[in-house]
Order: sequence, then structure tokens, then C-alpha cells
Amino acid sequence: MPELPEVETLARDLRAAVVGRTITDAWVAPDAPRLVQAMPVETFTSGLRGRRIEEIGRRGKYLLIKLDRDLWWLLHRRMSGNVIHRPADAPDERYLRARFRLDDGSELRFVDLRKFGTMWLTDDPQAVVAKLGPEPLDEAFTAEVLAAALAKRSAPVKAVLMDQHAIAGLGNLYADEALHYAGIHPLRPAQSLSTEEVARLRDGIVRALEQGLANLGSSMGGSDGEEVSLRDHVNLNGEPGSNQEYLVAYGREGRPCRSCGAAIERLKLSNRSAHFCPRCQPAGGRAKRKRAKAK
Ligand SMILES: [Zn+2]
Repeated sequence: MPELPEVETLARDLRAAVVGRTITDAWVAPDAPRLVQAMPVETFTSGLRGRRIEEIGRRGKYLLIKLDRDLWWLLHRRMSGNVIHRPADAPDERYLRARFRLDDGSELRFVDLRKFGTMWLTDDPQAVVAKLGPEPLDEAFTAEVLAAALAKRSAPVKAVLMDQHAIAGLGNLYADEALHYAGIHPLRPAQSLSTEEVARLRDGIVRALEQGLANLGSSMGGSDGEEVSLRDHVNLNGEPGSNQEYLVAYGREGRPCRSCGAAIERLKLSNRSAHFCPRCQPAGGRAKRKRAKAK
């Protein structure tokens, strides 16, 4: 499922490939009735025709494409949505839900197995993204900002990390990774973290996301030995990322912790799960550091 690193990778790819191009035609598959939000499909497709792509941005897991005349095309990939860039005469992909022809003879294609992906065409992008929490890769994302997001929340810290109103962009995978790097058990009540733990968690979030970004995202099918396909995250060229090879917690149930060798465990967390190392991420928090004892 695409999270911040996968959406940011897409934004960077699109910035290099399609800024300056004009959309000459748009089509949405009739079997994707929930793809276009807040307007009829015909209004969406006719509104895109003739528009020039000016800027590509991202907010949380939303892709923000600025068109000319102050119109914005917003996209959320949800469970399985991928955007790929192909010559217009390339064969259609399985699960093709929408196509956008560009003035250089290429096409952007939205391929989405699960059909949860959503798009908007709006002159007010804030109406869609205003309630998102802080961006964790911004310089302004300090331990104090994270502490404010966790304060007064009795929910498990992992659940709060995945709450887009608390922090934007983290999902199941990068939340597990961040908590492992920080040595924090996923079920700890968010408000119970010490100042030191919040600082470690802030660093763990940044580390997990930056690593995902450096590896062009996580494509989980690859780590199960399955053929990577458009069911998984792929980049604009249709190829998978490689971050699945470097994960420390997510998807590693029963495999040895990369730090201590203990078997990674998986527990239920509402209708999701959490992967963690029982030794590095003990339920009661880590024992006090030697530095603290020396005081
Ligand atoms: Zn461990």
C-alpha cells in the first residue's frame, strides 16, 4: 500500500517526466465508479482536456498536480493504485482504470487492482488536504511537534502514527519500521512515551521514510518470492522499488531481528497488525540507559 515514500517517489518521477506537457484527452473506465470524487466523470475528463501541467507536489499520501488557470488535479493511490507513463500505443495494462493522453504522444495511466484510488479536480486543494497533520520530512517536524501529536492520546502509539490527522503520510509499513528503529512497542499508549522516547521516535520516523525514499519505495510482492507486478507499488516506469529488501520489522514475522537475532513477532492491532521485536521493543519500554543510571 503506497505511503509517503512511494507517493513522493511518484511525485519526483512525474516532475521530471511531464511538467510542461498538456493533457489532450482523458478517459475513466466505466468499472471505476468511485475513482472521480465530487463531480460527474464527464465534468472531470472534460475539465482536464487542454490543461497544461505546471507543478507536481505532495501532501501526506496525496499527489497534487497544479494545472494552468489555477486548477488542481489531486490523486490518492489508496490500497493499490499506480501511475505509469507509457507510449499511447503500448498495450493496455490489466486493471487499467483511467488514461490521460499528453501532447507528446505519451500517456499517464492509472492502474488499480483494488479500485480504491480516488481523484479530484478542484480550484481549492486545501478543501481536500487541510486536515492532514504535519509533514514528517519537513525540517519543522521536531520532537516537540511529534510530542504534541502524541499528547493526550491513549490509543496505541502505532495507531496514532497511522492517523493522518496526527502525522501525514505514515501507514502500516513505515509505522512498524519507525517504531522498531526507536525501540518502542507498538501497543504503548501514545501519551505514555517519555521525552527521550519521543525524540527517538521522531528520528526513527525520519530514518524509515528517508530509507524508503532512497530505495524508491517498498514493493512487498518481491519479498515473498512472488513476481512483482502492478498489484504492488511500482514507479512511473512500471518497475518496483527495492526498500522491501531493507525492512527491519514489517513483513518479517518469525525472521531474526537484524539487531538482536530474536524472532520478529506479529500482533493484531484493530483490523491491522504490527510487527515488532520483543527484545528490542519491550512492552514496558526499554530499561533505563546507563547514562541515566550514572546520574
Ligand atoms: Zn531485536
